[in-house]
Amino acid sequence: MSSEVIVGIDLGTTNSAVGVVESGFPILLADEEGRRLLPSAVWYGKEEEVEVGWTAKRRLALGGVVTSIKRLMGQEARAEEVSAEILKKLKRIAEHRLEQPISKAVITVPAYFNEAQRGATKRAGELAGLEVVRLLSEPTAAALAYGLGKMGELQRVAVYDLGGGTFDVSILEMREGQFEVQSTAGDTRLGGDDFDRLLASMVLGDDWEKGRDSLESARVMEEAERVKVTLSEQETATFRLPFLASGPVEKEISRREFEAGLTDFLKKTEACCRRAMADAGLEPAGIDAVVLAGGSTRVPAVREKVEAIFQRKVEEGVDPDESVGLGAAIQAGIISGAVREVVLLDVTPLSLGIETVGGLMNVIIPRNTTIPCKAGEMFTNAAAGQRSMRLRVLQGERELAGDNWELGAVEVPFEAEGKGQARVGVQFSLDANGMLEVLARDTKTGVDTVLTIETAAVDVTDERVEQMVSESVEHAFADMRARVFTEAKLKAEELLNSLEPALALAGEDLEEGELSAIRAAEARVRKEIEGGASNGPLLKAAVEELDQASERLAALVVEKAMGL
Ligand code: AMP
Repeated sequence: MSSEVIVGIDLGTTNSAVGVVESGFPILLADEEGRRLLPSAVWYGKEEEVEVGWTAKRRLALGGVVTSIKRLMGQEARAEEVSAEILKKLKRIAEHRLEQPISKAVITVPAYFNEAQRGATKRAGELAGLEVVRLLSEPTAAALAYGLGKMGELQRVAVYDLGGGTFDVSILEMREGQFEVQSTAGDTRLGGDDFDRLLASMVLGDDWEKGRDSLESARVMEEAERVKVTLSEQETATFRLPFLASGPVEKEISRREFEAGLTDFLKKTEACCRRAMADAGLEPAGIDAVVLAGGSTRVPAVREKVEAIFQRKVEEGVDPDESVGLGAAIQAGIISGAVREVVLLDVTPLSLGIETVGGLMNVIIPRNTTIPCKAGEMFTNAAAGQRSMRLRVLQGERELAGDNWELGAVEVPFEAEGKGQARVGVQFSLDANGMLEVLARDTKTGVDTVLTIETAAVDVTDERVEQMVSESVEHAFADMRARVFTEAKLKAEELLNSLEPALALAGEDLEEGELSAIRAAEARVRKEIEGGASNGPLLKAAVEELDQASERLAALVVEKAMGL
């Protein structure tokens, strides 16, 4: 498994973020000023200079700034270029923080994005020098961030995502270890910006924009946003702009007043939630968890509304404006292998392997490997004249093949003369659904033998996994002893078998002492084999002794064979 870092990116309409899994925890990476969210704003200067993020946002009222480019994804090439600038900036933040080059990313996209929009997002990544290893749906990312999606847990999750300019609600269902989006509804023109406009109207009247230049409108909106954010924490806040052309403004606003003005917006989101539930064929009672995403869900009235719609408390513990980015980081961590301790169902619950000589388990895909995956090894024949081998595919954590579960078996033919001359490559491919295909290829003849294991290799109940793992721990010492003994015995038999022919060929060239040392070591090896499994370490030592004692004999045999 590669240890290359893969970052997770939330490429948002209003804000974007980049994260990674560090020591098993997902984190968003901060820029030099410690900010974890980057405004999705890009400024283009006359001399082709480009500024991204906070510096671009600051120039908003002065022109030349592109915002909300995500709305145009899939419609024009420029949207890809602008998005690429945001991605480049996130890449730089990550490279600076992690002190290494970054070339791979998981990027989130709305659940409703079509192929053109997804393709455009991928190309934006490539333009920014990032290989997009996966496009992840935003609601799925949010659910992952809240730690949902673990094996056997919650089945259906509602994700309520209210950002700066867009609203989405999605119903996810866990199927075969992966979240699938069952339904989605939303309003691409509803979000926190509307809340800001509402506050501005409350202070300056409905036609506050009339007669104001863009610079002033921007200042009004900025102050309105500040007041809104304050009201998420406090009962009152003061809207204060002393230097407006129309005269100074100062007005205290209560949370109650502000939230009363949100009723219509919230009703719209409620209608979307009901539609999404209806499309998924669900009532609120059929939903196991509700998750928030998007900065605007920090408004207490929004949260209360969500709890009323779904008739349950929302999940706690993650900042909603970070949930999509954190989920992207988790998915990236799963793909890169940085997330091991989390047992998600899209990892192998138990090791997969084959039986090798002596009845040992040879692991090909270790437990907790992310699927889909492929792994293989080369095997050879244990005896001369052998024409085929029986490939037993096993699942389990025990050292001895017989203690693991057999998933299937097949006879693999090959061409070989002497012992150890066959070259049979065995490859395990586990697809995203946990279907295992085992391919054995005789590399001499190119003949393939394929075994498909229909029962999903990951489809094992929690209890059986637990039982297997606890048994493997319980029997760890006995199993290890058995493995040491079996391996030592195989080596011993090999040495003993070659000993007499070697002595016949070159024995007379040995010194007296050398011969007696070989005979003594040989006797010890034979004695330890008789002792059985508990003698593993002794047998191993005896085998090493015999190996050393017969070193010169082996060299003499080679010299003779080469006619030296
Ligand atoms: P997002 O698109 O998820 O980054 O959300 C951005 C929107 O969330 C903007 O409209 C922000 O003003 C709004 N927002 C961020 N923090 C808060 C907060 N504490 N209370 C209310 N709205 C917030």
